[in-house]
Amino acid sequence: MLGHQRIISALRTAIQKDNVSHAYIFEGPDGVGKRATALKFASMLMCREDQFPCGECKSCQLYREASNPDFQEIIQKDKSISVEEIRNILKGLVIRPLYSDYKVIIINDADTMTIQAQNALLKSLEEPPPYVVFILTVQSLAAVAQTIRSRCQRILFNRLSHEDIMEIMESKYGPRQSDWEFIVSYADGVAGTALELAESPHSLELREEVLEFTSRLVSDRDADPFKFYETFEKNNDRVDYILHVILLYFRDLLIYKETGDTSLLINSDKKDMIIRNVELSFSHIIKCIQAVWDARRGLGNNANFQLAIEVMLMKIQKADNA
Ligand SMILES: [Zn+2]
Repeated sequence: MLGHQRIISALRTAIQKDNVSHAYIFEGPDGVGKRATALKFASMLMCREDQFPCGECKSCQLYREASNPDFQEIIQKDKSISVEEIRNILKGLVIRPLYSDYKVIIINDADTMTIQAQNALLKSLEEPPPYVVFILTVQSLAAVAQTIRSRCQRILFNRLSHEDIMEIMESKYGPRQSDWEFIVSYADGVAGTALELAESPHSLELREEVLEFTSRLVSDRDADPFKFYETFEKNNDRVDYILHVILLYFRDLLIYKETGDTSLLINSDKKDMIIRNVELSFSHIIKCIQAVWDARRGLGNNANFQLAIEVMLMKIQKADNA
């Protein structure tokens, strides 16, 4: 578990000092590591050795095999978590833990619990058996009843640093790859986004296609913007991603023009494409960025998809003489 060491060590201290709360709310953006931390905390709570989690005791073994009866987890499947799901989980709480000192219940995406589900949970939070620990994960506290919030210790998960995410990638995939600078910048502090992107060859190929096209469109009067539109049409569920890639391209071009330093580029593995267009003026590049923002705003306001994109592509191509 990298990236949230400070939180993990505070939770470890709470266990050592026998100062564990009955309920926690882990709050933070999707993909930032709330569930991974909750699972780690659960393994620490359920191990009975001094050096926890030992990985060897009966409780640890069963937990690893996902068959420890002292542990339960709700993973949201439908749009919301229903009262039945909560009741099912609460049913067994009166039975003391079999292998551990605690019974641990993780409710992921607890901000999607229905009102009835929240009410059912509230009863257990008001009078929890002494050995029960609830861990709720939420993106935002806004959808969680005040009565529940006030009974939980809140732990805030911030976005991770660039270096933290690089370390997580290294621990998972080995030595750094040339496109990681792009992946980590795009992920913007959310490890889950970085890992998803790293494991999506299609997204990485799409990025190359978009960079190639963009670099051609700004420099080649004969490039066909309508041909570029086909890429958008084929990937219309990834339009946010494509626009983001285009913006990062122009960002790099500005940085390189200003500093001449390729080590500052997000697309450092594609520096040839960026250097190729260093002759573009600052005002030209800024007009291109403006065109992407306009398209983004238009699409956010339900503008016609094809029109918004094609207008953007033409503006990018003609930005030098506008
Ligand atoms: Zn153990």
